[in-house]
Amino acid sequence: MKLKHIEKTSLGFFPTPLVELSRLSDFLGGPKIFMKRDDLTGLALGGNKTRKLEYILADALKQGCDTVITAGAAQSNHCRQTAAAAAKLNLECHLLLGGEAPPEAQGNLLLDHIFDSKIHWTGSNRKGEDIARIFAELKAAGKKPYLVPYGGSNKLGAVSFIDAVAELQQQNKGPEFSHIVFASSSGGTHAGLILGKQIYKKTFDLVGINIDKDTNTSLPFDQLIAQLVNSTAKLIGLDYTFSKNQLILNSDYVGDGYGIVGPQENEAIALTAKLEGILLDPVYTGRAMAGLMHLIRSGKISKNDHVLFWHTGGAPSLFAYSDDLAFSQADVC
Ligand SMILES: *Cc1c(COP(=O)(O)O)cnc(C)c1O
Repeated sequence: MKLKHIEKTSLGFFPTPLVELSRLSDFLGGPKIFMKRDDLTGLALGGNKTRKLEYILADALKQGCDTVITAGAAQSNHCRQTAAAAAKLNLECHLLLGGEAPPEAQGNLLLDHIFDSKIHWTGSNRKGEDIARIFAELKAAGKKPYLVPYGGSNKLGAVSFIDAVAELQQQNKGPEFSHIVFASSSGGTHAGLILGKQIYKKTFDLVGINIDKDTNTSLPFDQLIAQLVNSTAKLIGLDYTFSKNQLILNSDYVGDGYGIVGPQENEAIALTAKLEGILLDPVYTGRAMAGLMHLIRSGKISKNDHVLFWHTGGAPSLFAYSDDLAFSQADVC
């Protein structure tokens, strides 16, 4: 079957590296662990949103838009990468950020400012509830705004992770992975990986670690991902139906909720840094790695498995979370 070609614009550096984490494997007494370094996608300190934006913003350009608008948390990696991509593509960028302006701009927020994005603080509306209003205001002001969905998770965003599976397949010279573990939050990464698995006939389990216990979305998260898989399949002309019963979404590690950093995230960040020299982030990859470590320690992933951790980025927010991290009080020798 010939799949429909969808245009993209180049924003990042691909392929991202595939590396082995042998010291972390040894420490855990576990399986071989590899990491797909999408923290190194290249655009403004990297992350998984760069892949999605290559497709989404190609569509914005095709439609002749001059402004983009998107939403997220104050430390949104998605907003930071959108701001950088908009700068490169000569688009005005409006960001709707949850909460209030903090006294000091740090981490991703600092970078949003450096990229000259226009920031709208939206209080308790953290998932873009105010987008329609600001979209209308921009239109009334004579702009041609383009709406980039929350987390870049629409069909175009998901398509980018089909490419990512092809990229991984080209790179992996070893045995097939048994599990791919990653942080799942707005569903685009998860949906795209599921389609890539189907298209390239892969056998790995796609283990999404849910990082948010908030159910403030139009649909339950598993249904939302399944729906995105199916609508994206339709978009590319793939005859495939996915049901939420096939989905692996592990919600055991959401702790006290989105962005609340606990001892598990701290341990995962510390071990990955100390053993591998690699930075995880407190909100997404720190939580997902804590999940992987627990799955290994509890025997749910065994020594004979062959694991890939998909690093989706996020380290810029470390600076904004310094008070919640166990490293703020450095050891003094
Ligand atoms: C957005 C994001 C995710 C989640 O990806 P989704 O496609 O939204 O599920 C994971 N990790 C980081 C660092 C992110 O910024």
